[in-house]
Amino acid sequence: MPSDLSGQLGSVFDSFFSSAIVQLVLYSIVIYLFVVWLAAAYWAFRDMHDRTENPALPYVAAAIILVATPFLFVLGVVVYRVIRPAERLGEVYERNLAEEALLAEVEAIKTCRGCDRRVDDEWIICPWCRSRLNRVCPNCERLVGLDWTLCAWCGKDFERPVAIDRAVAGSTLGIPTAEGIGRALPSGGTAGTITNRKPAIGG
Ligand SMILES: [Zn+2]
Ligand SMILES: [Zn+2]
Repeated sequence: MPSDLSGQLGSVFDSFFSSAIVQLVLYSIVIYLFVVWLAAAYWAFRDMHDRTENPALPYVAAAIILVATPFLFVLGVVVYRVIRPAERLGEVYERNLAEEALLAEVEAIKTCRGCDRRVDDEWIICPWCRSRLNRVCPNCERLVGLDWTLCAWCGKDFERPVAIDRAVAGSTLGIPTAEGIGRALPSGGTAGTITNRKPAIGG
């Protein structure tokens, strides 16, 4: 009986697989897998090409899919997706640009050296801690940086001796020497009293 049964089953399978329609379907599935396998390899090649500047890695990516054969290539795609670089080159470039822009923005915000509060570019003294931020050129009366060695606006040389400078300026306004930088004020002679006083508010 068992041999009869297996014989019957065998003939059923034979007739099933020899059926033209079933064979067509099987061939179609094989061709479909083959095409998708090759397409997946090409996709991996293109995808890696977008993610690395190394010219060899796209071929390695395609090889991973090809080695996985038409029947296991889905596994190859999963492996590739796990090990591939997370970002595309375009995304890396955009992120770098955004970071640089943010950094430039942060650097452009001027803060007081004394109290780290935000201060305006054109202030000469921090209103909170009374640190000197800028000074005024005694020659042209425009704002100049504390560390400038001469005035960028009028060319006045700040490195010259104080005595000569005073004589030229004809007053004690904004004495532009290293020692004078901390004390000098654009107008009046009250620099010492201002910078020596403790901050009235804030810290
Ligand atoms: Zn300050
Ligand atoms: Zn000047």
